Amino acid sequence: MQYHAFVIKYAEIGVKGKNRYIFEDALVRQIKRVLSKCDGTFEVSKVAGRIYVAAEGFDLDETVSALQTVFGITGICPAVSIARDGENRLPDEDGICRAVIDFVDGVYPDKNKTFKVRVRRVDKSYPKDSMEMAAEIGARILDAYKEMKVDVHTPQILINVEIREQLNIFSEVIPGPGGMPIGTAGKAMLLLSGGIDSPVAGFMIAKRGVDLEAVYFNAPPYTSEKAKQKVVDLAGVIARYTGKIRLHVINFTEIQMYIYEKCPHDELTIIMRRYMMKIADILAAKTGCMGLVTGESIGQVASQTMQSLMCTGEVVKDMPVYRPLIAFDKQDIVDISLRIDAYETSILPYEDCCTIFVAKHPVTKPRLDVIERHEENLSERIDELVKTAIETDEIIEITK
Ligand code: ATP
Ligand code: MG
Repeated sequence: MQYHAFVIKYAEIGVKGKNRYIFEDALVRQIKRVLSKCDGTFEVSKVAGRIYVAAEGFDLDETVSALQTVFGITGICPAVSIARDGENRLPDEDGICRAVIDFVDGVYPDKNKTFKVRVRRVDKSYPKDSMEMAAEIGARILDAYKEMKVDVHTPQILINVEIREQLNIFSEVIPGPGGMPIGTAGKAMLLLSGGIDSPVAGFMIAKRGVDLEAVYFNAPPYTSEKAKQKVVDLAGVIARYTGKIRLHVINFTEIQMYIYEKCPHDELTIIMRRYMMKIADILAAKTGCMGLVTGESIGQVASQTMQSLMCTGEVVKDMPVYRPLIAFDKQDIVDISLRIDAYETSILPYEDCCTIFVAKHPVTKPRLDVIERHEENLSERIDELVKTAIETDEIIEITK
């Protein structure tokens, strides 16, 4: 079937009252962004509560995959579209019926199906109303294809005929990712490691329309260039949806060594995490973020018991910490990771800064007062080390 257009469906953002245009404009912007990277020419327009993409010379699979990375879209409907003629006329009733019959033939070689026709008529110049037109088109389809049957309640095929600026015919609705368009909710700072969880956490927050920056704590030479590249690649996976991500790479080695030298080893992970959160908080405030995002989930590892989460969250003073995976089982996280094509990268076996210094028996029920007392051992140099780490922040711009 040769399609000429896409009718874009969106749900949640349709109900935002007076602010609706902000959401629709953001959606149009994001659609234009992803289509600019596809073969073909596209014209995106917003008409009467719909987004319509006229398309030429495109690859269907590539275009649909690109549109599936735009948060806010709930359905992508490839459409046959017939433009007005030189005298600004659309086909007459007979012409519309013939176009629909051809459409059905093109899309459904197997006619053994039930169907229903739905007509939306913005152009009121036709003598029949929408219901009458639908009945007429339905009758003509039944005439043309004897195997087909009408089912108005649960049809296998719902044929949409829209008589607007152009005539659009579509039936298939390919699911979009849902959520809210990027750029409608402000920005957050994602603590991005090379694992499975944090990329999924970032994806989930971005899906609510949130722009992301990311921070990665690197520990060269204990962690390799490959481990860093893996994080860059994972940021790229998320940037497919968000368009761009600024990744801050913080050299954490000296801080880590200092903690290792001065603090009890079973508390290393917790204390390290606290400094990661502290630095992320400072960076986030500096870059206009309104929250931190982590991939933590209750009980997944020693550093994610409720006691540990209390200790690590406690250092963040300027903004909320969002933990979208907090109640997820690992398998549910893996499922999302697979779906967004992050998993293959996440499981590459490169070292992580936290696994290198990790104790054999880390505390699972840290007490904040005890941790704070041990952190006093760091008082001599830690402020200076944190300051240097922030000043030497390497920023990598990731665009997709
Ligand atoms: P992930 O799969 O995201 O690495 P994890 O199950 O390995 O998570 P932890 O290692 O306990 O869990 O890390 C908890 C969270 O802390 C991560 O999800 C991430 O948000 C943050 N984090 C951990 N290590 C780093 C790092 N090196 N750089 C940035 N953030 C980190
Ligand atoms: Mg990890």
